[in-house]
Amino acid sequence: MEAGNPRDPLLLQVLPRPVELAEAPGFTCDPIGDRNAQTAPAVLEKYRGRALLITAPSCAVHCRYCFRRHFPYAESIASSGGHARALEYLSRSPEVREVILSGGDPLVLSDRKLGNLVREISRIPHVARLRIHTRLPVVLPQRVSNELLTGLQAAHVPLIVVIHANHPREIAPDVTQSLLRLRAAGIVLLNQSVLLRDVNDSAAALAELSERLFHAGVLPYYLHLLDRVRGAAHFEVTEAQARTIHRELRTLLPGYLVPRLVRESLHSEAKEPLAP
Ligand SMILES: *Cc1c(COP(=O)(O)O)cnc(C)c1O
Ligand code: SF4
Repeated sequence: MEAGNPRDPLLLQVLPRPVELAEAPGFTCDPIGDRNAQTAPAVLEKYRGRALLITAPSCAVHCRYCFRRHFPYAESIASSGGHARALEYLSRSPEVREVILSGGDPLVLSDRKLGNLVREISRIPHVARLRIHTRLPVVLPQRVSNELLTGLQAAHVPLIVVIHANHPREIAPDVTQSLLRLRAAGIVLLNQSVLLRDVNDSAAALAELSERLFHAGVLPYYLHLLDRVRGAAHFEVTEAQARTIHRELRTLLPGYLVPRLVRESLHSEAKEPLAP
């Protein structure tokens, strides 16, 4: 963050502001139906073959636009008996091919806890891939320690780490180093971003982000439209603007560096792509 700049795109992502208290129609506490998607304690299943495990009750930062900003993490995890019941459920669910450790942020767990979880899940015979959604390598690159890498390498299946960065300045030199270490450990690295007003709502910023990600061994995955969560209306970029930005982005980059523009919806069977 640039000292003294109240409009800094990194600062705006985490600074609580009074504008969050403004009522905005259509912005709710559970915009994507997470609570209805729970199939077992701490397990969300919305999409075929994939089960998302609410792994930790907190994150390293509180992104002000977070779609889970009202999610009852503590309840969800406490009621799961430290994931024992979730693991039992997953091992009885042969349709689950991929387990996604998600948020809160799985990397707030200790190396030992995370390593154990990774090992136990990857031992389930029908689980073919393990994915970790984390923002920690971006906001606290030192978290990618030797111990963490050792813990992750205990997995018996391929690992995918999906980071979350929105603005090119987030991919600072120390972040790049940490990402390259994960890459060198044989982990597939992807990034998801949220399209945010006054943060990254320009094709130039997003193109620069993709370029920097690539140099850190990461491919862009999704560019999400904002989930309409209560308190985040001031971040919204309209669908029309999103399409325009994405159209321009496609002219600036090779196809493999263009993230898919998607929206999460309550009832569809996949993240919905926004047609050009
Ligand atoms: C986003 C999401 C996934 C992952 O979707 P992909 O398209 O595979 O990245 C899985 N489960 C839930 C509940 C999700 O919200
Ligand atoms: S890191 Fe992800 S889950 Fe955590 S506050 Fe930010 S957007 Fe929400």
